[in-house]
Amino acid sequence: MSTHAPSGLTSRRRFLQSLVGIGALVGPSLSSVSSLLAEEPKSPSNDKRKLGIALLGLGGYSTGQLAPALHETRHCRLAGVVTGTPAKAERWKRQYNLPASCVYNYENFDRIADNPEIDIVYVVTPNALHRDFVIRAAKAGKHVICEKPMATSVEDCDRMIDACRNANRKLSIGYRLHFEPHNLEAVRIGTERIFGPLTIVKAGHGFHGSGGTWRFDKKLAGGGPLMDVGIYCVQAACYVTGEEPVAVTAVEKPKTDPERFREVEETLTWTMEFPSGTRAECITSYNENYNHLRGEAANGWFELSPAYSYRGIRGKTSSGRMDFPQVNQQAIQMDAFAKCIQDGTSSSVPGEMGRRDVRYLMAIYEAARTGKRVTL
Ligand code: NAD
Repeated sequence: MSTHAPSGLTSRRRFLQSLVGIGALVGPSLSSVSSLLAEEPKSPSNDKRKLGIALLGLGGYSTGQLAPALHETRHCRLAGVVTGTPAKAERWKRQYNLPASCVYNYENFDRIADNPEIDIVYVVTPNALHRDFVIRAAKAGKHVICEKPMATSVEDCDRMIDACRNANRKLSIGYRLHFEPHNLEAVRIGTERIFGPLTIVKAGHGFHGSGGTWRFDKKLAGGGPLMDVGIYCVQAACYVTGEEPVAVTAVEKPKTDPERFREVEETLTWTMEFPSGTRAECITSYNENYNHLRGEAANGWFELSPAYSYRGIRGKTSSGRMDFPQVNQQAIQMDAFAKCIQDGTSSSVPGEMGRRDVRYLMAIYEAARTGKRVTL
């Protein structure tokens, strides 16, 4: 039995209807996806101008995910790039037909203020660099999307939020799973207590990472797998419960490769306690594979596995299979932000949410360091 739409959703209309169903049932912070997708195609002449996005930092995520996703967006387009590598500038200019006037480096980036083609700067650099680039983008008068984790300290998040507020620009975090149907269904089941109040949430995200990149450098990454992928578990525990944790405990597992993990944790387990009594048990690792989210209640359970991937997310519940379409999460996420700007509404994944999560990540590190239960 399926918990939602039947398989074989071939027509666009049925595909969209399935998402409208989800949107009607989830909380306000996650419902924007269905209305966005449910729009009927408009003739180009009816379209408001597509907003121009400049990708800043042309590494794996920009190249492999964001630029291709921008081919599928309806409210925004790739309008420019910011890179420290001249060869990349040339390659992107050719590949995406970008005018030289829309290609910047980290030194002349502030001149983007004079470029009306660019409405949004999307910051996709190592974590510790997010702060300065977000602040510079806001000062240049651009709206900003910042990748997760928002920053490597709560103080940095505050400065980023202040800079955007002072410039009257919107700030959003790259939380793509807020736009993914299986995760939205998990939110619906959890927050509407479909099987009763959740008693336990189990979440894990980890992979075998190769060393030698900035992700193993504490100054640039802020920490190890918790900052990088464990943050998805923190997010999921909050969105499926619809609550904010009141306390955390954490234990770092002994390192199997102390040389490679000289600066950051290798594997970390932690718990989050929620006001209603729900408890989340989580794990993250750069040396063990995890990709799951499970919620248990008195009358049933749900499970996503994989839960956090770009594609191929699958889900089931105690009453049947989840059967939702795969979507381009990044395209929907960027379109949702563009719509917020066009319509003058608030992002459902704002800087304040990014700051909240960095606060939880720091509390988890403190709990691991001290061995104490840290209250929030
Ligand atoms: P990456 O290493 O592939 O790319 C990083 C880019 O930043 C490179 O182009 C590099 O040249 C540039 N850079 C600028 N200054 C640098 C410096 N001082 N040191 C190292 N690189 C520097 O990393 P990535 O996987 O693209 O990750 C970038 C950001 O995107 C991170 O914050 C990461 O957490 C986030 N991310 C998010 C998702 C998601 O699903 N939302 C997925 C991957 C990465």
